Amino acid sequence: MYQQSVVSIKDLRFATLACPRCNTRVTVDLNAEFEPESRRRPFVAPRACPRCDTPFDSAVPEAVDSLQEVYKALAKLGSAVTFTANGDQSVPPPPPPAK
Ligand SMILES: [Zn+2]
Repeated sequence: MYQQSVVSIKDLRFATLACPRCNTRVTVDLNAEFEPESRRRPFVAPRACPRCDTPFDSAVPEAVDSLQEVYKALAKLGSAVTFTANGDQSVPPPPPPAK
């Protein structure tokens, strides 16, 4: 049976980073506002594990920060843009409706 879920970007509010060393998981609120100290730069992803201080691969927090920018842009659009998650990856999604 083919199952899919359609979600709004706001349904995907939290992203979780896993520390490669101690497996601590850090959940980031993509809807978070600006870092209290600076207010210049959005604060999202930590650069290092808060438990063991092992730095994350720099690509990880950078990607999450980029995701936050996209998240905020899409969240402003409300339900104009939604995402579809395929429950069964072996079945292709249905074709888009004809214009
Ligand atoms: Zn760690």
